[in-house]
Amino acid sequence: MIRQTLVLITMSALLNSKVASPGLGGADTETRHKYITDLIRVGRGELEIDAPVVYRPMPEKYRVDFDGEQLDACVMWKGNGYVIYLKKNLQDYKLAKIIAHELIHVWQYETGKMVICDHHVEFDGRVYKRPKQIDYELRPWEREAFAKSFQLSRKLKILVSEDPKHEKEKR
Ligand SMILES: [Zn+2]
Repeated sequence: MIRQTLVLITMSALLNSKVASPGLGGADTETRHKYITDLIRVGRGELEIDAPVVYRPMPEKYRVDFDGEQLDACVMWKGNGYVIYLKKNLQDYKLAKIIAHELIHVWQYETGKMVICDHHVEFDGRVYKRPKQIDYELRPWEREAFAKSFQLSRKLKILVSEDPKHEKEKR
């Protein structure tokens, strides 16, 4: 795959609300950081992803998808690994689902199922020349990410909360 040309990829569109999410990124950022890195670590294991994956706060410029939709997260290849960009102040309960979704995209890239080249996308051997013109929910790679991440996120929640290191911070 041509990683250098990976552009802004994918996203969990801001799903249901513009509801404020107080309390996040606030008092207990360390616990939150640990929770997110555990989700990523366990998820990589589940999907057998060898490539490094980290997360960072999402810069403003990535906030809006091609079609103007607001994004909760996106993932990109950045030189030596993948970076999941997360919108600030996401509610905790959304994290497992969002991380699972973005990791499915990493899996799509790593397995060669999906290739982004310049402005078109190849997915499952089919070339989409104008991916931006497909509605977000109808993009085949998004449909797959939503379908697969449902189960993965449930599994991640269980695995991460069963981790003895998380004894005190069950979610
Ligand atoms: Zn997506």
